[in-house]
Amino acid sequence: MADPFAEIDRGSLEWRGEPYGTSRDGVRLEVWLPADRRPSGLILAAIHGNEPETTVALSAALRSVDPAARRAAVVLCANPDGTLLGTRGNSLGVDLNRNFATRNWGPPLPGELPTGSAAASEPETRALVDLVERLSPAFVLSVHSDLACVDDAKSTPLARWLAAKSGLPLVAGVGYATPGSLGTWCADRDLDIVTLELERMGAQDLRRRWGPILAEVIRGACP
Ligand SMILES: [Zn+2]
Repeated sequence: MADPFAEIDRGSLEWRGEPYGTSRDGVRLEVWLPADRRPSGLILAAIHGNEPETTVALSAALRSVDPAARRAAVVLCANPDGTLLGTRGNSLGVDLNRNFATRNWGPPLPGELPTGSAAASEPETRALVDLVERLSPAFVLSVHSDLACVDDAKSTPLARWLAAKSGLPLVAGVGYATPGSLGTWCADRDLDIVTLELERMGAQDLRRRWGPILAEVIRGACP
């Protein structure tokens, strides 16, 4: 298999994911499942459409792991409409990471994007909730940029492992309230959630740096 982290390989995906829903603008939402269809965890990127480098890094990781060796489920792009538009929110301008039906969901905090007309008003949010409920992963790893930290209030073994592997600080919050976030939704359900904030680097540097680390998570070679 070609080295997927080599500069020369900008590679194609040899297999497609399967649909788990449709975005507001009709783009297919896709998940890559392990062969036994019982994932250890769920890794997702680009719930914020202005963080496409997270998809580049996670895609390199996914493509480097033989399908038979995959253990985690992977969503390369949780917000395809926003990614196509280059916006943090979806095509309605809703910040999907504030649209989850958490106990503290509400209207946007001052200066923040719309949080939706109601909790879970957005198709991308509902599809992700349905996916998590169907797969029942032991953890969710949500990849963002560019605050350069591993955020996990519970300091789970996976978070400690990611911090040790990468040298990023492990923090118990990003320093501001995130009502309606995926992280809060998982915490409400006592589901382990790690928010990985990549560094402020170009997509290709992040691909080289994070591809091998995220590949280990996909392979299940992590706590
Ligand atoms: Zn983000």
